[in-house]
Amino acid sequence: MSVQMDEQEVVRSVPKQLFIGGSWVDAAGGATFEVTDPSTGEVLCSVADASPEDGMTALSAAADAQAEFAATSPRSRSDMLMNAFRLLHERVDDLALLMTLEMGKPLAESRGEILYAAEFLRHFAEEAVRVDGGYQIAPTGGARFLVAKQPVGPCLLITPWNFPMARGTRKIGPAIAAGCTSVIKPAQQTPLSMLALAGILREAGVPDGVVNVLPTTGAGKVMEPLIRSGIARKLSFTGSTEVGRRLLEQCADKVLRTSMELGGNAAFIVFDDADLDAAVEGAVAAKMRNSGEACTAANRIYVHADVVDEFGSRLAKAMAAMPVGRGVDDGVRVGPMIDAAAQEKVQELVQDAVDHGAQVLTGGERPTTAGYFYPPTVLTDVPDDARMRHEEIFGPVAPISSFSTEDEVVRAANDTEYGLVDYVFTNDLRRALRVAEALEAGMIGLNQGVVSNPAAPFGGVKASGLGREGGSTGIDEFLETKYIGIAM
Ligand code: NAP
Repeated sequence: MSVQMDEQEVVRSVPKQLFIGGSWVDAAGGATFEVTDPSTGEVLCSVADASPEDGMTALSAAADAQAEFAATSPRSRSDMLMNAFRLLHERVDDLALLMTLEMGKPLAESRGEILYAAEFLRHFAEEAVRVDGGYQIAPTGGARFLVAKQPVGPCLLITPWNFPMARGTRKIGPAIAAGCTSVIKPAQQTPLSMLALAGILREAGVPDGVVNVLPTTGAGKVMEPLIRSGIARKLSFTGSTEVGRRLLEQCADKVLRTSMELGGNAAFIVFDDADLDAAVEGAVAAKMRNSGEACTAANRIYVHADVVDEFGSRLAKAMAAMPVGRGVDDGVRVGPMIDAAAQEKVQELVQDAVDHGAQVLTGGERPTTAGYFYPPTVLTDVPDDARMRHEEIFGPVAPISSFSTEDEVVRAANDTEYGLVDYVFTNDLRRALRVAEALEAGMIGLNQGVVSNPAAPFGGVKASGLGREGGSTGIDEFLETKYIGIAM
């Protein structure tokens, strides 16, 4: 059992160096950068700031460890992941506090994320020993086909700040299960959770060089040479579509395998026959998880004209009742935005919608206190030409519009370059299936506001990405298929 630490102890407990080849090392030249608490704007600590040279050292360590790691038994890799799963459970309270301090989300949500992150380790521990192949007689009968799965090779993993731990284990879990080594670059706002995870993976028995972690303020300068090196064989990225596009171009050079979990612009559709209590509860979950700083966040809420007023007033009441504050304080349900720029963008999008005719049902005013807070906000009559209809809000703002027909709302929902997730609330089974099939998204929440589950395939279509994480196919992203033709 761990003894729970206080804020200072928990920050002190995390190594602040780069993790390369199983050792904690300073960045070349001793460079560091500051990590701040978004609820106060105050500096929490300084962390080593990797240079391009450090990047190459980390990739060499991963490449050196690859062959030996690929030859370990699936059971031993599974055991490493299960050990790490147990350690995350044992230390959940300390890790949650650390995450809340660097990222801002309320403690209960951080705790939820650590347990969710641990589930990816357990899921892929179970997948590690289930990788199979095939044996087939050639259609002409003259040969046999053997089909084997092998690790892709050294991987580059880039993660965002909004889920600092779960976006890491969703990549590291299948990489280890498949027998791949990796270099991980966490977001510069939230390196501490990943550094803590690196220490836990080492304790769990992951061999030196298999996992290398590079916090840096020079994401592009450090990662591009690694992508173009010809040593890495795969890039798995979670982040914005804008950066994802640039990385895909870089990957084309050496034809790297890619998994891309990019931006979203989720539609949340409420039909007139829906259970309104469930729809409001679902909207709060889909909008307010992570204070709206989630790729799965409901970004466009479409409600049938017959129930839009009732839905809007119930949602406004539920969101107005959510206490805003420092994530470490009791009862807080909404933490700060990640930084001043994020807070500013949310305010701009709200002002733009209001300028285009939207009505504010609750919130809508940025507070003047310290920290990057924004209140839960509900807007109604949001027109199509408001920016927030087309851009990710990434904040606690729920924009409602009304619709009249099924065709109209499906067309509106699909009128976006994104296609990560949409939500549909209706009690008509035929309509539910019809609409779920017509929506252009990788995931549909049917009468539920949360779709994320380690055992389900997570990912998007269109500009929301390529590939799937989690589920029974998540490990395939880290495996190559090899066909061996046998003469008989
Ligand atoms: P971002 O700016 O794209 O950053 C994501 C990661 O990419 C960070 O680690 C960032 O490093 C790094 N990065 C930035 N520029 C880079 C470059 N030129 N080369 C290599 N790496 C680079 O995204 P964000 O604003 O932090 O995160 C929010 C976005 O992620 C949203 O669009 C959200 O929808 C998306 N997201 C998608 C999913 C999904 O599963 N589909 C899940 C979560 C979030 P720095 O921190 O140093 O900038």
